Amino acid sequence: MKPPRFTYHDPTQLPEALELLAQLGADSKVLAGGQSLIPLLNMRMAHPEHLIDLNRIHELAYLSERDGGIAIGAMTRHRTVERSTLIRKRLPLLAQAVGQIGHVQIRTRGTIGGSVAHADPAAELPAVLAAFDGHVTLTGPSGIRQVGPEDFFITYLTTSAAPDELLTEVWFPAPPPRTGQTWLELARRHGDYALVGLGASLTLADDGTIADTRLALTGVGPTPVRARSAEARLRGERPGAAVFGEAGRLVAQEVEPDSDIHASADYRRHVAGILTLRALEAAAQQLTGAATA
Ligand code: FAD
Repeated sequence: MKPPRFTYHDPTQLPEALELLAQLGADSKVLAGGQSLIPLLNMRMAHPEHLIDLNRIHELAYLSERDGGIAIGAMTRHRTVERSTLIRKRLPLLAQAVGQIGHVQIRTRGTIGGSVAHADPAAELPAVLAAFDGHVTLTGPSGIRQVGPEDFFITYLTTSAAPDELLTEVWFPAPPPRTGQTWLELARRHGDYALVGLGASLTLADDGTIADTRLALTGVGPTPVRARSAEARLRGERPGAAVFGEAGRLVAQEVEPDSDIHASADYRRHVAGILTLRALEAAAQQLTGAATA
């Protein structure tokens, strides 16, 4: 299959790319890793007249500690994040989740910015952003703005970015001490998009009770979903199988997945509950191990 005809632009600086985007507007598409866009073009599901390739804009590929968290440039490849010692140490949930994206070839080309901008509700990174309450930086003709996940992800493949804005950075706050984190997902085959995925984070207070918890899911709605009522139920409790099981039941009730050719809504709800229990147990075990180390 071949893509429809387009005019190719390969800016080397961010201002050049922004100028092109402002000029060409709705007739153009930005090309990052191409792992989602190129199949869409080949299947004739997108027909841009212009492609603006970001791959020569090296200033958009970086990973650094900043403002109490980690800033990742939009053109940083999934594989760079997966292999980063800094990410494994400071944001293990992100490292685990990125490692589940497709196959190694896809992760070598696919980018953090592309994945978040594409806003596929089955993708891992939007849910990780929701779990951490991180933000994206959008850069456009009138400057930059930072947007949190709840305002950024609107619905399936749709974000609040304007047509003349580029997603230039994704920022994740570093979790507080005594935090355990786990990403778990169920896919039909290795490398497939997850039927359901879940990022769980558990922070303990000095007295051993749960000070904070984050449960963010993928594959159960048109955007990443935070299981807020299960999170609220866990706060103040002592970690344990009973309360984790109850959180799992609450998550299964709280989410509203659709049925599709891959799985029914009921099955997805069931899987969401089981993943919650298992991810919370794994996160708690990390903390127990840290305490005894
Ligand atoms: P592209 O494909 O280049 O672009 C995707 C979209 O985002 C386009 O609309 C583009 O215009 C826009 N865009 C890109 N960058 C920017 C930017 N900086 N600012 C504004 N808009 C931008 N993904 C998962 O999350 N989980 C999976 O399990 C998974 N499995 C896959 C399996 C296969 C076989 C394949 C082919 C892909 C899979 N993917 C999966 C998709 C992959 O992760 C892509 O890398 C990701 O969805 C898009 O990133 P990209 O850099 O390739 O973006």
